[in-house]
Amino acid sequence: MNIASFMLRAGLAFPGAPAVAAGTHVMWDYATISRRVAALAGGLRTRHGLVPGDRVGILAKNCPEYLEILYACWHAGLIVVPINAKLHPAEVAFIADNSGMALCFVTDGLGGAEAGAAVRWIGIGGADYAALLAAPELPLEPRLPDDDAWLFYTSGTTGRPKGATLTHRNLLAMCFCYFADVDPVSPWSAILHAAPMSHGSGLYALPHVMQASCNVIPPSGGFDVDEVYGMIAAWPGLVFFAAPTMVKRLLDDACPRDTANLKAIIYGGGPMYLEHCLAGLERFGPKLTQLYGQGETPMTITALSARQHAQRDHPQWRARLASVGIAQSAVEVRTVDEAGRPVAAGEIGEVAVRGDSVMRGYWNDPAATAQAIRDGWLHTGDFGVLDADGFLTLKDRSKDLIISGGTNIYPREIEEVLLTHAAVSEAAVIGRPEEEWGEEVVAFVVAAPGVDAAALDALCQQRIARFKRPRHYRFVDSLPKNSYGKVLKTELRRIDADLVAGSA
Ligand code: AMP
Repeated sequence: MNIASFMLRAGLAFPGAPAVAAGTHVMWDYATISRRVAALAGGLRTRHGLVPGDRVGILAKNCPEYLEILYACWHAGLIVVPINAKLHPAEVAFIADNSGMALCFVTDGLGGAEAGAAVRWIGIGGADYAALLAAPELPLEPRLPDDDAWLFYTSGTTGRPKGATLTHRNLLAMCFCYFADVDPVSPWSAILHAAPMSHGSGLYALPHVMQASCNVIPPSGGFDVDEVYGMIAAWPGLVFFAAPTMVKRLLDDACPRDTANLKAIIYGGGPMYLEHCLAGLERFGPKLTQLYGQGETPMTITALSARQHAQRDHPQWRARLASVGIAQSAVEVRTVDEAGRPVAAGEIGEVAVRGDSVMRGYWNDPAATAQAIRDGWLHTGDFGVLDADGFLTLKDRSKDLIISGGTNIYPREIEEVLLTHAAVSEAAVIGRPEEEWGEEVVAFVVAAPGVDAAALDALCQQRIARFKRPRHYRFVDSLPKNSYGKVLKTELRRIDADLVAGSA
């Protein structure tokens, strides 16, 4: 089935329901947007001669047209390639070439200058765009479940990005899991796209189109604390996807705010530390829900529901809040050793996933695909522990693991301890090469003035084994993050190495 059929269905069953709003202004209802989608699809096929299976890029900040472009491509049987708007032109060029895209939609000011001449650029909202919308409406192009729909380029915190190839089946499985595990259907809701639509927020637009709810685009096109609170006050039943670092910024805001309208904050994409989760529950009530996923199995590995967040009287409540929850309904999740054999409950292993949301493979990269999907299981590169009840607690990605004196040290464990200090707002722990032990622990800390290494060391001594204590502290104003809010540990390792070289 074609995932775009849900747009048509919403247009027929809920024609007057708001589909897209810019801030508080409703731009299109479902009848209107489903017509625009069919026309745009017609334009892509007839004016540009694209055929099913061709790739179409979207290099745009969040904007109202984003949704109709996604659906128009699927409607026409095309494959979308959403590109993070903050990428460097050289990275855009890499994705354009790697995906072999024929055409790319672009918002003002985002150039594709370095991309191959083969790509045609269409300015969103410009004359070419209007011409596409004037084309005759195209009937829905039938698609098989295993036809490709979305090339999701991995965020590339290390190495070159790879295009996780997501099929219509994968996206459908993600939508079902959204309702079953993340955010149950309600008669009325709206999703605020404060996080990039090229990533999690755009993926979560799909279940909202499925239930004909409104997609709200913030006027800034991005994440702004004041604006998010303003949108919560304006839109009943509001949900939004946020990286944990965004939730942290909402929590740092001291103004009194009316959040009665909030339905759910769906966080994921990076570690949420227990202290921040507790503060979030305090501030927003039991409206937090967590997902753990990756581009290769979009938004769909495990989830920790709002209900599980609220179970304060459960003896494992805190441990569960520090976990990423239980397997989502469309997938099996297990932890495996290096040979791919399941490890026992309570032991650390690599997280492996099998099910309908798992990608077909990496675009044009059979070697990387064979490396990632072995015996039908996607090997995520994340390490974690499953408890006897099926709750998964993530440790760290293999590349972030510190090995000191032959023993594994998981940075997250140390970060969790540092964050319990009232004056510490952010912490990231890395390994520094060292002759005697192989690696030694270095902590980057964002803290209020007056906190020193001695105070943090005393805290660590009370809570963790001596060999895990950071040997060095670096106090910084902020941590480097990518545009999805993920802390860039590669960058921290580089900064640390430069400083060490500079002081030698
Ligand atoms: P991406 O493919 O860019 O979405 O990145 C996926 C990676 O982000 C995963 O493999 C994890 O390492 C990390 N991640 C995603 N969700 C969570 C979560 N809830 N908690 C901790 N890490 C997460």
